[in-house]
Amino acid sequence: MVLRQTLLAASGSDRLRTLVAGTRLTRGVVDRFVAGERAEDAVRAAGELAEYDLLSSIDHLGEDADHPARTQDVVKGYVRLLRLLDDTGLTSWAEVSVKPTAVGLGLGPEGEALAVDNLSRICDTAAEVGTTVTVDMEAARHVPATLRVVARLRARHPWVGCVLQSYLRRTEGDTAAMAAEPGARVRLCKGAYAPERGSAYTGRREVDAAFVRSLRRLMTGSAYPMVATHDSRLIDIATTLARRYGRTYDDFEYQMLYGARPTEQRRLASLGARVRVYVPYGTDWYGYLVRRVAERPANAAFAARQVLTR
Ligand code: FAD
Repeated sequence: MVLRQTLLAASGSDRLRTLVAGTRLTRGVVDRFVAGERAEDAVRAAGELAEYDLLSSIDHLGEDADHPARTQDVVKGYVRLLRLLDDTGLTSWAEVSVKPTAVGLGLGPEGEALAVDNLSRICDTAAEVGTTVTVDMEAARHVPATLRVVARLRARHPWVGCVLQSYLRRTEGDTAAMAAEPGARVRLCKGAYAPERGSAYTGRREVDAAFVRSLRRLMTGSAYPMVATHDSRLIDIATTLARRYGRTYDDFEYQMLYGARPTEQRRLASLGARVRVYVPYGTDWYGYLVRRVAERPANAAFAARQVLTR
């Protein structure tokens, strides 16, 4: 737990970001968890996943935009990505995931409206090419604004996906509200950010138990559950609950990260389940990668092995 907290604190450090970028050790992890630097790389990865009947949600890496102008580049990047998906015939296989702070949330009092405007442009393009958008969930301080942003977007595009994190104490209430929205696409995950004091469960068992309680609400409700975990126990519980409450493989999906448990991703898909892989691309991978190492230090060991065996 202490190692996790330390690593998550490091995910925000600019000095470490500069130090770490480009080392051989880092490259091993980047290559495993990031599809490449360009949108074309992510589209190619989505095409390869589709060959195994795996769906994708593509994320243009980057967060915490520090200026409104920067958010315009992010929107352009997503629009271009969506057009590429259209050109390659992949829009029924791949959607996009967007971090609200990459499109303006957090930029002072005007940030929320800017995020709504920017996400609306991305959603309009997604609608045009026939795919969907999921709005990622970030640190706890952004949760209330992110939920308001999603509600605004859903008024026009009801298919906009939202993420709920079981480590937050508030999440069971949020899940209950969303589970009542017919067809609402809800990604349930444990949560990857440094929890803020008092607002989050910190013990693994508490987080897992909260995940199961929210999962049950989603499976018994009328939303569309997207079960985002690599945890075999939780995957089994999701499968059991779906069966118990009469959901077929079309009525929910499993989600995992690019590079994490690829054999399990293919195994579930081969059973006929809907499995979506979160595919990040871009050069701004530092924060994303530190979160991957924080949740599973074995990912750092993996990188070390790669260097030693080269
Ligand atoms: P953990 O408790 O981390 O791991 C449980 C077990 O799973 C491990 O013991 C191991 O057996 C197995 N496992 C875990 N990782 C790996 C791996 N890399 N390789 C092999 N086995 C592994 N978090 C957010 O805060 N906001 C988001 O918007 C968000 N979006 C996500 C989208 C997707 C599709 C996924 C899969 C995760 C997302 N997350 C997000 C991250 C999430 O919150 C967790 O931090 C992350 O998924 C790790 O938790 P876990 O449920 O896999 O279980």
